[in-house]
Amino acid sequence: MTQSGVSSPSSDRLRVAILGCTGSIGTQALDVCRQHADKLQVVALSAHSGTERLVASAREFGVRRVAVTDPAHRHDPILQDLPDATSLSVGAQAAVDICLHDDVDCVLVAIVGAAGLAASAAVLATDKRLALANKESLVVGGELLMPMASPGQLLPVDSEHAAIFQCLLGENPREVHKIWLTCSGGPFFGRSRDQLAHVGVDDALAHPTWNMGAKITIDSATLMNKGLERIEAMHLFGVGMDDICVVIQRQSKIHSMVEYEDGSVIAHLGVSDMRIPIQYAFSYPERWASPALRMDFRELGRLDFGAPDTDAFRCLALAERAGRIGGTLPCVLNAANEIAVSAFLGGTCSFTDIDRIVERCMDDHDAQRVQSLEQLADVDRWARARASQVVSDLS
Ligand code: NDP
Ligand code: MG
Repeated sequence: MTQSGVSSPSSDRLRVAILGCTGSIGTQALDVCRQHADKLQVVALSAHSGTERLVASAREFGVRRVAVTDPAHRHDPILQDLPDATSLSVGAQAAVDICLHDDVDCVLVAIVGAAGLAASAAVLATDKRLALANKESLVVGGELLMPMASPGQLLPVDSEHAAIFQCLLGENPREVHKIWLTCSGGPFFGRSRDQLAHVGVDDALAHPTWNMGAKITIDSATLMNKGLERIEAMHLFGVGMDDICVVIQRQSKIHSMVEYEDGSVIAHLGVSDMRIPIQYAFSYPERWASPALRMDFRELGRLDFGAPDTDAFRCLALAERAGRIGGTLPCVLNAANEIAVSAFLGGTCSFTDIDRIVERCMDDHDAQRVQSLEQLADVDRWARARASQVVSDLS
């Protein structure tokens, strides 16, 4: 074990498993591994449905194990093209199992939604590093996960949290006055509630500064993403809701800031490229050559700031309520939101119905103290069923 409590890699390269390798974060993580092949070795990969991309990556990186988490894709013919030396397993648990072998030093959980929680918990129960993109893990199960994490074991990949983590390095946490969590404002910044009621799926998928998976892109348009991130930050940095202030930073060049008691504010700036925080979660405490283009401050122009409009973007207020009450309420917030977002993407509810669905489910739930993953799975199931019912009542 190292001083940080996390085992040091026994190979000269960091051996990584990437869960959700076919998604936006997963694909960018593979690019980081490609660019730093002398430092990173990909040993295991999971995909849910994208077996073609999974097989291509397994071949390119010569991985030892792959998991297909959606059993409906168990017999995809392309899986015959996996290298002979690559083992295949199927089902939700398979993504967890491929990470727990001795030849894995670091697991990137880049699965979307509460489906990532089991893997995050399983990794923290070992001495492997957890590079966590899946913010829903912390929103739903932060009260269970954080006590499991040894110092230096959990590295946030979410750009704001990676930024805050770096702004806190070498500082005394007791001298923090406030965390400024930046938010681009999304594609509908400045719109009224009435205007939001009529936005379409294509408009909502057009994020001004980041290119991401569909679910988080909709969450960024409703500002639920920032609400989830505020809860994520509470858990990661052991602070309260009032210690985290959301500020609109339209250009997404300041990735967050920490304000100290003496009035000094330390900000993290950089290009809007997720490969930078992904790479840092692998390289920490080192810094490796940038995988992205560099920023030229002479061409940056301006930085605009503002306050979020929680009357129009009600998801931010709902997440605040869930974070303040805590317990199982954030689990309900998250599950109902996953159902509502998928209904919006499928054309069965409007953009402003998303917060109505989430609010209805939260109103119907009596929050309990978080006790176990099984309890959270039950609450998650209940909230999904309730949200689906609300969606069908709407139509
Ligand atoms: P994507 O939708 O692009 O990718 C999701 C990945 O998860 C895919 O590999 C998908 O497999 C897999 N997956 C989907 N459903 C399941 C399931 N039920 N069980 C297991 N795996 C599943 O999402 P993103 O990459 O955008 O986001 C991933 C996570 O990272 C999210 O939690 C998001 O909030 C977070 N994040 C993302 C950022 C970004 O820039 N994209 C920034 C910060 C955080 P397949 O495609 O094969 O079906
Ligand atoms: Mg983020």
